[in-house]
Amino acid sequence: SLSDRLGGVFDRLRGRGALNEADVRAAMREVRIALLEADVALPVARDFIDKVTEKAVGQQVLKSVTPGQQVVKIVNDALVDMLGADESELNVDVTPPAVVMMVGLQGSGKTTTTAKIAKRLSEKNRKKVMMASLDVNRPAAQEQLAVLGTQTGVATLPIVAGQQPVDIARRAMQAAKLQGYDVLLLDTAGRLHVDQALMDEMKAVAEVSTPAEILLVVDALTGQDAVNVAQSFAGQVDLTGVVLTRMDGDARGGAALSMRAVTGKPIKFAGVGEGMDKLEGFHPDRVAGRILGMGDVVSLVERAAETVQAEEAEAMARKMAKGQFDLNDLRTQIAQMQRMGGLGALASMLPGMKKMAGAVKAAQDDKALTRLDAMISSMTPKERAKPELLNAKRKIRVANGSGTTVQDVNRLLKMHQEMATMMKKLRKMGGLGKLGALFG
Ligand code: GDP
Ligand code: MG
Repeated sequence: SLSDRLGGVFDRLRGRGALNEADVRAAMREVRIALLEADVALPVARDFIDKVTEKAVGQQVLKSVTPGQQVVKIVNDALVDMLGADESELNVDVTPPAVVMMVGLQGSGKTTTTAKIAKRLSEKNRKKVMMASLDVNRPAAQEQLAVLGTQTGVATLPIVAGQQPVDIARRAMQAAKLQGYDVLLLDTAGRLHVDQALMDEMKAVAEVSTPAEILLVVDALTGQDAVNVAQSFAGQVDLTGVVLTRMDGDARGGAALSMRAVTGKPIKFAGVGEGMDKLEGFHPDRVAGRILGMGDVVSLVERAAETVQAEEAEAMARKMAKGQFDLNDLRTQIAQMQRMGGLGALASMLPGMKKMAGAVKAAQDDKALTRLDAMISSMTPKERAKPELLNAKRKIRVANGSGTTVQDVNRLLKMHQEMATMMKKLRKMGGLGKLGALFG
């Protein structure tokens, strides 16, 4: 029969079983190679694989995808999760001037990124922005920033020869305050390698300027090396975020994962070219796709997951429409619905079902679900199949047996009652046909 066939969907799913450890380990070998090829630092890759393996073993495999594909999706989701939120806003709404200090190695793209961010803040966020170069090491570094300022229409602090970085920072602060700038960007000097003199200089500058943001600028192409750099900087100054430059090159983005793991700070922007508008917000999903190089597989599994959801919803709807819905089903269904985004979503699609949606939603937080489960477990099979058997005495027994109250039991029964009413309405509406159409 129809319901047998639909039941078979679940059986087949169960038949495919859970991801076993051998499947997961085999897939992880491939994932590890992908991570290393994408320049994720070795210890970061190792940690990540361990975490994901643990998460993946035991997960159900969707039909129409292979266990390997399923693992890729799990890895992708874990990557996105670990890369952090789509969060590119800078914290510049503080007492002006909000200081944004740029730090990083020489050639990482600090000066370029300073000007890009300045342009963005003045155009997009309508801030009054000034930039100052504290780079007294590299010849013409201050002039380089002045040129970018002219190009982007952003003010730069006038150059005074012979001043040290801390003095320039003080002068910049003063000028920004006097002239009413909202944001002051400080472009610091880099070094070819991390050294203590550089760190001391940065700390001194931070002390006189109390930055709202300290952004570490890292070249995405430096790969494995980037981790050591990030570690040194993170240990010495209070970084608030990371900017990855040269994401337009053939970097596969592994540095993003490493940076995030090592600094614990969000990636705020990605530089995607030399031009002043080549600055993008950070999109973890895109970067995850780039790291894994498995965008196709991920969307395949996503589609498979959607199909299963729709099939589960349809099977449930059919069962309900047939009136075969006792308290056993209620328990199973609520667990399933939680996963699917809720019967609330289903019920709210049907006219006059808003109340139901609310009732189910209320039952869907974990605690309520556990209570519900306990109550139904305390009933006899007969009571579960025929809730009207539950008289006052039986209700007390169920409440005692489940550590709940008679009121809780009544609430559960009311919820079941409302579902029964919903089913009657569905049948009047033409039931299955109409409901089925919702999932067409
Ligand atoms: P700094 O020494 O850290 O200040 O680095 P610069 O800002 O002077 O940048 C060094 C070089 O990298 C310059 O030629 C920039 O144009 C280039 N650059 C910076 N960011 C990017 C980027 O996102 N993509 C590309 N392709 N080049 C960049
Ligand atoms: Mg520079």
